[in-house]
Amino acid sequence: MVVKEQKKQQVEIKETPKSVAMKPGFYLVATPIGNLRDITFRALDVLSSVDLVVCEDTRVTGKLMNAYGFKKKMQVYNDHSTDHQREYLIQCAAEGQSIAVLSDAGTPLVSDPGYKLVRGAVEQNLYVTSIPGPNAALPALQLSGLPTDQFSFLGFLPPKTTARQNTLKKWEAAPGSLIIYETGPRLLDSLQDMRQTLGNREAAVMRELTKMYEEVQRGKLSDLIVHYTKIGAPKGEIVVVLGQAVAEIVSTESIEKQIKSALEKMSVRDAAEMVAQATGKPKKTIYTLTLKLASDRKSDRK
Ligand code: SAM
Repeated sequence: MVVKEQKKQQVEIKETPKSVAMKPGFYLVATPIGNLRDITFRALDVLSSVDLVVCEDTRVTGKLMNAYGFKKKMQVYNDHSTDHQREYLIQCAAEGQSIAVLSDAGTPLVSDPGYKLVRGAVEQNLYVTSIPGPNAALPALQLSGLPTDQFSFLGFLPPKTTARQNTLKKWEAAPGSLIIYETGPRLLDSLQDMRQTLGNREAAVMRELTKMYEEVQRGKLSDLIVHYTKIGAPKGEIVVVLGQAVAEIVSTESIEKQIKSALEKMSVRDAAEMVAQATGKPKKTIYTLTLKLASDRKSDRK
């Protein structure tokens, strides 16, 4: 079988997709995140055999199908699809159709549509199976050089700073590495929020994985901030991986204790400065807390 790659190279795949008998139901098929050769033989078998291909965008999936020479009925299903459209697909599966579910790239349902469809199918006791394959989070974790034994996947963070910082705070004490999907234009702001909220952790930025300009930048968050301030917003698709908290996780109680003890010996300004340095917390936050604790202390003494 000859496959047209994006760069117009011809690549040969020795194995020919098998037309296999398909059970009615949903087949969640992972597709390449950049390099068209990253597709499993099983994914090709399924794509050549299903009755219907459901995808986010028929232009994107159409390119993939053309590259492999598959001509299939395609239907759009994405985050804008209505309940009615979802129910229709579930009905098709219930009536005997085999349906491949694809996203634009990678694993469907991972920061991509499909969850509600699977949920609906499961509720109807329909057959649902996964055809595993590419995704961006795990290769990024592998390349980050950060611990891989435990990790949390955060998906995309909110676009606005306050919401983003609030989300990050919830993960402050999570054990292991944190995997975050990002976009070039938001990367710098996001790295700054990570630095401010989670401290100066080890981190890595993986860009354009599996593609021609694949790139990895590793360092402390502060190093990455300097780098991206210098070069500007990077192009392409990005995953950020953060290492675990550098120092021991500092609880609010322990910060207050440190401030109270510092206030015994020094001014508000010096106490705040010292505790901010010791904990890696933002100076402004610590200064506000120190002011409050100093004023509580005064009232207690009255
Ligand atoms: N379902 C996909 C998966 O399994 O990884 C994720 C889809 S999500 C809409 C798209 C995000 O995934 C991008 O913004 C980026 O964070 C990440 N991503 C996808 N392809 C990538 C690539 N080739 N290199 C780096 N990150 C990628």
